[in-house]
Amino acid sequence: MAMSIYDRFGIPTIINAKGPSTRLSGGFLDADVATAMTEAATMCVEMTELHAGASKVIAQVTGAEAGIVTSGAAAGLLMGTAACMTGLDPGKMSRLPDTSGMKNEVIMVRSQRNSYDHAVRGAGARIVEVGLPDRYAGAGVRDAEAWEIREAITERTAAVCWVATGSAQPALAEVARVAHGAGVPVLVDAAGQLPPVTNLKRFLAEGADLVAFSGGKAIGGPQGSGILAGKRDLIMSAILQHLDLDVYWEQWTPPASLINKDRLPGAPPHGIGRPCKVGKETVIGLLVALQKFAAETDEARSRRLGAIAQRLHAALAGVDHARVELTAGMTPKVELHLMKDAPRTALQLCVDMERASPAAVYADPSRTRNGVVVFNPWCMREGDAERVAAVVKPLLRY
Ligand SMILES: *Cc1c(COP(=O)(O)O)cnc(C)c1O
Repeated sequence: MAMSIYDRFGIPTIINAKGPSTRLSGGFLDADVATAMTEAATMCVEMTELHAGASKVIAQVTGAEAGIVTSGAAAGLLMGTAACMTGLDPGKMSRLPDTSGMKNEVIMVRSQRNSYDHAVRGAGARIVEVGLPDRYAGAGVRDAEAWEIREAITERTAAVCWVATGSAQPALAEVARVAHGAGVPVLVDAAGQLPPVTNLKRFLAEGADLVAFSGGKAIGGPQGSGILAGKRDLIMSAILQHLDLDVYWEQWTPPASLINKDRLPGAPPHGIGRPCKVGKETVIGLLVALQKFAAETDEARSRRLGAIAQRLHAALAGVDHARVELTAGMTPKVELHLMKDAPRTALQLCVDMERASPAAVYADPSRTRNGVVVFNPWCMREGDAERVAAVVKPLLRY
């Protein structure tokens, strides 16, 4: 095979049968997205104009008033939190992460706390937890309830952060009702909630004021990209805290659709979101990917991924000491259920697959405690199904 760009730098490539996770470099770009990024990289634009153009595309696809391309969903959470704390006050923007004298508490349901909420704290906010997750502890059936969120709201509350999952409680509409009743915005982490494609609009329709998506996961954009979409004022605040504003006030003419200069007493200096820089090629790549993602039906996507899963299912046929299952659903997957007499545990199998040569194979290890290794077709390329089977089969043989 021809030398790849990774070979040139002595970096091994992998077979990614886990899905578009950040640690495994996300997915890969479709040729249209890669071409668009290459072309975008050969010209210059004024960055606020670029973000204003992007905002229109994001608004159209998500139903939001406005939106921006971020360097990831986590960056969206950081900038969204900052926007909820500062509003359009450039003095507050320039003080962050010092939040003295401003609303700086973000309410979260305790069972929704996760590693990514560091981005919320990174903006300078303090997280206030509510509810006891009895349903996860096994001690009972309940989780946080809307009244607990309402009771936790004080004059210091900047936002409620709600993490979208299939089982999140209370429901977003209820959370939005109590938050909005007290004039508090709701920020939704929907990083990994695509597909279904309807989720691009759903959280905003259910009452979110801001929603953050990953661009490098299912959308198929550049690995270091994401979207923050929502209310016009909050997006204006977020972009003001992100843009490079090394410009004379008289010289600065931002498009009013994104930044209404008349509403500002002055421009803030570089803000808390400035380290989350996105390049022009990233913005364009994300937009092209987003349009393609929104144009493909869930059924067509599911059929396309299902064909890869079926190939892997067929290639794994006859494997020793394990049962192979093809699962239905929006993303069809292949599950390998190890039998008690298998030569390795499921986790050991994952470790050994990752040490295989010529190419390491990464699968989803999250169910290995139950003896199951899951293969996700999302980032598998032509020929990978056979390569995966060729690595797995000898490892399950004595
Ligand atoms: C992946 C993920 C993130 C981070 O997204 P990035 O685009 O990698 O910044 C945040 N929250 C959740 C729930 C995620 O799954």
